[in-house]
Amino acid sequence: MKLWQLTVQEAHRLLLKRDISSRELTESVLDRIAQVEDRVKAFITVTESVARQMAEEADRRLRQGEHVTPLTGIPIAIKDVLCTKGIRTTCGSRILENFVPPYDATCVKRLKEWGAVFVGKTNMDEFAMGSSTEFSAFFPTANPWDLKRVPGGSSGGSAAAVAAGECCAALGTDTGGSVRQPASFCGIVGLKPTYGRVSRFGLIAFASSLDQVGPMTRTVADCAVLLQAIAGHDPWDSTSIPEPVPDYLQELNKEVNGLTIGLPKEYFGEGVDQRIAQMIYGVAKKLETLGVRIEEVSLPTTEYALSAYYIIAPAEASSNLARYDGVQYGYRVPADDIVEMYCKTRKEGFGREVKHRIMLGTYTLSSGYYEAYYLRAAKVRSLIRRDFEKAFQTCQLLMSPTSPILPFPMGERTTDPLLMKMCDICTIPANMAGLPAISLPCGFIDGLPVGLQLTGPPLSEPLLLRGANWIEKQVGLFNCLAPLSVP
Ligand code: GLN
Repeated sequence: MKLWQLTVQEAHRLLLKRDISSRELTESVLDRIAQVEDRVKAFITVTESVARQMAEEADRRLRQGEHVTPLTGIPIAIKDVLCTKGIRTTCGSRILENFVPPYDATCVKRLKEWGAVFVGKTNMDEFAMGSSTEFSAFFPTANPWDLKRVPGGSSGGSAAAVAAGECCAALGTDTGGSVRQPASFCGIVGLKPTYGRVSRFGLIAFASSLDQVGPMTRTVADCAVLLQAIAGHDPWDSTSIPEPVPDYLQELNKEVNGLTIGLPKEYFGEGVDQRIAQMIYGVAKKLETLGVRIEEVSLPTTEYALSAYYIIAPAEASSNLARYDGVQYGYRVPADDIVEMYCKTRKEGFGREVKHRIMLGTYTLSSGYYEAYYLRAAKVRSLIRRDFEKAFQTCQLLMSPTSPILPFPMGERTTDPLLMKMCDICTIPANMAGLPAISLPCGFIDGLPVGLQLTGPPLSEPLLLRGANWIEKQVGLFNCLAPLSVP
């Protein structure tokens, strides 16, 4: 086994025993990047020298047994939407192409405190708007399981890097599915925590009432480790939850007795590839034989979730993206007067999808339309939340496909905005209701990974991870690495 193939926990055990050093592990991962990155294209920036420095510091800590955590010396990749002090942070956009943040996002700061090693910043759809990473202003990322297909999005770079062994784990962000859907497409684990569980400070905002940072890993246990590092209250984010953080790893191996899992029927019907639906039903059958109660439930407002999301998210985006005007930072096109400067800067700096959303959002928020669009969407949002509350009266967790479709060929959906947006039908409701949800691999169809999604009530991460960890054992897919041949 090569060092880059180790999970976070395996690597941690070997580091603790001093069987390997962080330097060796980091070099192995950097070599792997050198071997496969020209095909996968997961990174916007690879930070070799930062990684080597951090590895050295981690080895020092490990040698001296000083402040050693489960992430000390572990190579991690970070989505380029999270601010990293002194490291370029582009958000997948020309408008921030040369932006070097003067501060760290809180979750980045926490990873640093835990002694993680940063190997690079990963590719993403511009401003996290998209489902395939094809809307990156720089280049598309390939799915390591089939290089002609998309890795999902918007955290496609993080997902591909984890699946290709270009890091042990990564951070992504999820506004409407951007951690879970690429995790599903790349055969890895991805968790969107409860809204407010992880600080958004230093996360470049897309839709502030929906955005959440989440771990992307090759096992459920690794996911628990990363969540442990980044979760918790942060005075710099007013929406962060002031609840204490449970010990997720300890919760992981508790018994799963008397579990009732609901199958929301709306997630298995129209628009869902029936081979995927059957695979999830198959897992449900298996769990039933092991003593889990399986119940069909209904979330009737699901039908309207996509439409409501595409009003709320662009509305918030149009307001959040107003700050990119060429004045204080970022890209600027010089012009004779300031209005012309604004216009040219934004015209050249933003890509098509981002402009599309800014226009949509500005329209729905404009006077006279606000009640018809935004306010109605907000009401739908309350109904979605109520549907879930009702379902959680009879079951503890909900199970469904993560994505209604398999990873699709590059270029297939870029010119059809509706088709692209249909990818999110199973993931958006959890964001709208602020709920935690996890995707884990549950099988393959035509050699392509299929993701299973579990959703739980607010702050149910301990149960969600425990359930996912148990299902991972039953399914038998653990540490899936894409079989990329090395020349
Ligand atoms: N695909 C969805 C969108 O384009 C979700 C994106 C996300 O979660 N960041 O809005």
